[in-house]
Amino acid sequence: MSNHFISPDSKVIAVDFDGTIVEHAYPGIGKEMLFAFATLKALQAKGHKLILWTYRHGDLLQEAVEYCKKNGVEFYAVNRNFPEEEVSEKVARKLNADIFIDDRNIGGFRGWSEVWQMLHPDGGDFFHVVVNPDAHNNYKKEEVSFFKRFLGRK
Ligand SMILES: [Mg+2]
Repeated sequence: MSNHFISPDSKVIAVDFDGTIVEHAYPGIGKEMLFAFATLKALQAKGHKLILWTYRHGDLLQEAVEYCKKNGVEFYAVNRNFPEEEVSEKVARKLNADIFIDDRNIGGFRGWSEVWQMLHPDGGDFFHVVVNPDAHNNYKKEEVSFFKRFLGRK
């Protein structure tokens, strides 16, 4: 894995799958939402812990996990607080995360570029983080320049 550093302001971030990382196509897997994986990778490189927090379970959950892995994102934990946590399928619990990114938020999902800007109002060093080849082997250069244009930075 890449050399992620842990910053004192790192957060536990719970991320929904359907409608948030990908467009709604449940039980299929929709198209990636714009900048989803680039932003998730940058968040991990900033030291945040990402938990996949989804209604999916069983095979459909496994497909989602594999899809994310294929796109360069492995979660700290999936549908639990930490990798070793014992969970019961019979009991619905609240996850102990600092932040939830979910298309069911009040106001709806505002997009990944806005997620990044809300978490890093100073710009958060996004380009440095994303361009670091250790942290982002799969990152495509065209996406970086598109993101720069999107944020109005040349
Ligand atoms: Mg959703």
